[in-house]
Amino acid sequence: MPSALAERVVDGPEGYTGVAAGPEWAAEIRRLARERDAVILAHNYQLPEIQDIADHTGDSLGLSRIAAETDAATIVFCGVHFMAETAKILSPDKTVLIPDARAGCSLADSITAGQLREWKAEHPGATVVSYVNTTAEVKAETDVCCTSSNAVEVVAAQPADRPILFCPDQFLGAHVRRETGREDILVWAGECHVHAGISGAELARRAEAHPEADLYIHPECGCANSAIYLAGEGTIDPGRVHMLSTGAMLEAARRAQREDPAPVLVATETGMLHQLRQVAPDIDFAPVNDRASCSYMKTITPAALLRCLAGGVDEVTVAPEVAERARASVRAMIAIGEPGGGE
Ligand code: SF4
Repeated sequence: MPSALAERVVDGPEGYTGVAAGPEWAAEIRRLARERDAVILAHNYQLPEIQDIADHTGDSLGLSRIAAETDAATIVFCGVHFMAETAKILSPDKTVLIPDARAGCSLADSITAGQLREWKAEHPGATVVSYVNTTAEVKAETDVCCTSSNAVEVVAAQPADRPILFCPDQFLGAHVRRETGREDILVWAGECHVHAGISGAELARRAEAHPEADLYIHPECGCANSAIYLAGEGTIDPGRVHMLSTGAMLEAARRAQREDPAPVLVATETGMLHQLRQVAPDIDFAPVNDRASCSYMKTITPAALLRCLAGGVDEVTVAPEVAERARASVRAMIAIGEPGGGE
């Protein structure tokens, strides 16, 4: 049945607007999802109203696993484009939709498949390790993917007699180089625009100003990689630093709520605060930087989700030969170790 509400959606410089979240919107989203046999997945950094309407909320790989297991014919992936691509790579027979195909990722955009091919040509025989925040084409040129949770483990599992090309995040690369002690890791100079908002000086200043606060660092997004680096450098007291995947962060918050509801500084994209405050309402959670918000993630507005379900757009496709090679690099990672419940 056509959606009269969806006709109010406007595409403008701010993305899709014209319809706000509310009971009418929520009822229409649920009706259209049923009609389309769609499951709605929302990344942890999505707007609160998108997280609240979703069937499942979580990190990108966890959501991709749910996508692969679901019986639903259509997967609506509320996140950024490379995440929806990963769901498509792991579930090639399902229809994958993203509410706004313009939801990119500055970190994934910092290396193209062509650039990676040139880099490989300069270092024949090297092993390519890529962070999961990469396009399907880059994954297809990659030997093994990694997340921040397992990057050290993945690199340590590679042959010692071949250099490593690590891309695209320079902070994660520096962390891996330090942790493994390997000198032969070449690191691509990519970065996420959000992590620049969590500068080392700011992190240290906030930690100093709140000596009673614990620090939760979510290792899976580019914005947290600089924090990982600083903690490893000893810039902040490692005793207060908790490197936690999303699931572990929520678990720690629940435990702290029961045992010791001390304040917590959260070094990651601010969307995560919504879930933390829900599971531990007595804890004072504060972002290390409240400007650490991913504008790409926030392009998935209530209006965009409505347009997506009403029209069956924007469909995410990956060429089968690219998907096959990309799938191999994702599976190579999973074979080495649990990717963690991170981004
Ligand atoms: S926060 Fe950074 S790394 Fe994460 S999706 Fe946004 S741009 Fe990409």
